[in-house]
Amino acid sequence: MRVHNFGAGPCTLPEEVLTDARDEFLDFGGSGMSLVEMSHRSEAYEEVHQGALSLTRSVSGAPSDFEILFVQGGATLQFSMIPMNLLNAGERAGYVVSGSWGEKALSNARHHGSVYVAWDGAGDGYTSMPDPGSVVVEEGSRYLHVTTNETIGGIRMVEFPATDVALVADMSSEYLARPVDWDRYDLIYGGVQKNLAPAGMAVVFVRRSVVENGNQDLGDYLRYGFHSSSDSLGNTPPMFPIWIMGKVLARLDAAGGVEVLERESAQKAALLYSAIDGSDGFYRNPVNIRDRSHMNVVFRLPSEELESRFVAESTAAGLIGLKGHRSVGGLRASLYAALTLESVHRLVEFMADFRT
Ligand SMILES: *Cc1c(COP(=O)(O)O)cnc(C)c1O
Repeated sequence: MRVHNFGAGPCTLPEEVLTDARDEFLDFGGSGMSLVEMSHRSEAYEEVHQGALSLTRSVSGAPSDFEILFVQGGATLQFSMIPMNLLNAGERAGYVVSGSWGEKALSNARHHGSVYVAWDGAGDGYTSMPDPGSVVVEEGSRYLHVTTNETIGGIRMVEFPATDVALVADMSSEYLARPVDWDRYDLIYGGVQKNLAPAGMAVVFVRRSVVENGNQDLGDYLRYGFHSSSDSLGNTPPMFPIWIMGKVLARLDAAGGVEVLERESAQKAALLYSAIDGSDGFYRNPVNIRDRSHMNVVFRLPSEELESRFVAESTAAGLIGLKGHRSVGGLRASLYAALTLESVHRLVEFMADFRT
């Protein structure tokens, strides 16, 4: 029996995708071997690869002046590749530090270029996103980096900073779950293991002119141009997550794409927040209401002892992955794309039972 997997990443994937992959696994398309044993230059893999690229474009709605790259190293490598590629000599970039991931993006960027803090939410324990006017962007900044959903703190950027500077966004934990105003961005990235695929790579959307005008003095893998000029086939790509992501995206596309996923995510989150808010203070969500994440819902119980019991008993009931991140404690339910509304109903029922 499959559990209800509320883990923060890697995430639950659609069961039909898993069974479909299982059925194809030993003998891909009558080739007598598995896809992951094949040359990445083979015709069969080429089709899978180009299919995943084109579905990524159609589902995301990325305009034609954006390149789509599949890059190993997850979102973490992008923390370095972004400043390495985008910051030419003398250029600076601002960072909105809205939680653990924003902080990591900033601290990694410090190794590669001149960056500064444009806003920091430490004062309120990273429980809110900035008001649009409170982000201080220095004139002439090359870009402003934002984390649109902080996976650990459970906050989501609803109102974006008021600036003309191009945005660079880490959208890992809400990838393809919200429409994007592409004009405002030079680059959008995310690890695929939160919403889209097994771990193993990031998807990077980057404006073509940014690739062309960026720093070219980098080793192959670190340079966006290496990936864009080869359709992300410059070296051996992560064939397994690309293959599975193609299947996930095909389903997502058929189900109605980003708008539908956004609506479903909002619905799942609303159900859980209303259970929290309606618990007479037994469950508490500490974040600013405007900024409540639709993907990672964090909550506390009256004591740490009750929280440990909640984790143990929910796990025994087949609701897994609810322990909060070790850096903040508490509980966290991640409601990624493939987690069903039914799973959230089960959690809400468990929460009601646990309380009484
Ligand atoms: C998980 C996560 C990361 C780290 O992703 P990796 O692919 O493991 O490097 C970065 N940013 C956000 C917002 C995340 O949720």
